[in-house]
Amino acid sequence: TVQPPPEIENRLEKRFKSISKALSISYKKPIYMEKAAFQYMYDAYGNSFLDAYNNIPHVGHSHPKVVKAGQKQMARLNTNTRYLYDLLPEYAERLLETFPPSLNKVFFVNSGSAASDLAIRMARHYTGADTMMVLEHGYHGNTLIGTDISDYKFSDPKGQGQKAHILKTAIPDTYHGRYTKNDGTAGAAYAEDSIRQIENSAESIAAFISEPIVGCGGQVPLAKGYLQEIYPAIRKQNGVTISDEVQTGFGRLGDYYWGFEAQNVIPDMVILGKPMCNGHPVGAVVCTDEIAESFSHGVEFFSSFGGNPVTCAIGLSVLDVIEEEELQQHAKAVGDYYKSLFLELQKEHNCIGDVRGSGLFLGVEMVKPGSKEPDTQLAQRLKNELRNLHVLVSTDGPFDNVIKSKPPLIFNRYNAQEVTEKMNQILRSM
Ligand code: PMP
Repeated sequence: TVQPPPEIENRLEKRFKSISKALSISYKKPIYMEKAAFQYMYDAYGNSFLDAYNNIPHVGHSHPKVVKAGQKQMARLNTNTRYLYDLLPEYAERLLETFPPSLNKVFFVNSGSAASDLAIRMARHYTGADTMMVLEHGYHGNTLIGTDISDYKFSDPKGQGQKAHILKTAIPDTYHGRYTKNDGTAGAAYAEDSIRQIENSAESIAAFISEPIVGCGGQVPLAKGYLQEIYPAIRKQNGVTISDEVQTGFGRLGDYYWGFEAQNVIPDMVILGKPMCNGHPVGAVVCTDEIAESFSHGVEFFSSFGGNPVTCAIGLSVLDVIEEEELQQHAKAVGDYYKSLFLELQKEHNCIGDVRGSGLFLGVEMVKPGSKEPDTQLAQRLKNELRNLHVLVSTDGPFDNVIKSKPPLIFNRYNAQEVTEKMNQILRSM
């Protein structure tokens, strides 16, 4: 006979015996998860969930090709990068083929945080400067440097506050912000304000870092044209421009493989993570020859696990699957449809203030009807009730009132219908 699993409270208690409460957990009554395949997750009680949330299993949970690539390589060779093996240059080349030619060097690490940390170190080395310009509500990592450059963390009431060498600039948000015309005029106006800050800065700028769509800010796409104005101003000070593609990269946005393409710019550095190996821990910094060359004149760089053969084999398999299954095109087609369903829902429910994002990286902002005032409670209720209806989404943004959906890219039209129909059902029942 199958024993019924012990209650969630016992599991939670067991977790907190050895794991700090600082490590967050989803839902008041967390899900005791057992397995996952493609866009579905299964708990230990036999319930299945549609995963409309997790962007790390980019090509699908437990994708057989990715699993096989990892298993095969793990049984053959896994070592640090101090020996020669073909998978390292092979993967590096394949990955770099997805970037514009000026971005032609890659450093492998083990997380998005390690990547943003390394990128800032490299920018400091290259420029000799220390000041960093960051966006309001941005998040780039959990290291010391990572929290220094993440408004989402340093401005938290329990956070360490803004350091003197950090220049924070307004998020170019055309829904809530000061400028709302997303025809290029808002982007230019936001950039003008940021450039004034740059020009008034006592120290020159080492780096400007931003995501193309600010995830922790509540899925806020940068106003059109913003980066085109701000990048030259940073470069004028010999600073480097960094695009954080940890969430938005690898075709998720549908129209673009990399999010910076949406702004018609080419950054000097790009940081990667989450989807890169479909869940196997990895991160990378992609940069220009010039920046990599300058770093090579500094102290030796080494990462025990970064770029090991298993990582490279898995990374290659992920690139293969994205191509073979045409997942970028799929993200575009399904994402456009999914967004149109949310926009339909918005017509019926005036508590949906905004629907934004691109491809399979969407945000739905819940507000008090007829205003832009955040409705945190409603967003939380929706998230929890969707979970009860076996759909996983999350919430984010400074008021935690934006429903985020960034599912594995194999998410399909039926899945999109299921999420929006269930959301409709919940909203109608209120
Ligand atoms: N940058 C962004 C935009 C992120 O969303 C995250 C993770 N949420 C990171 C960096 C850090 O990545 P990791 O958790 O792999 O360290």
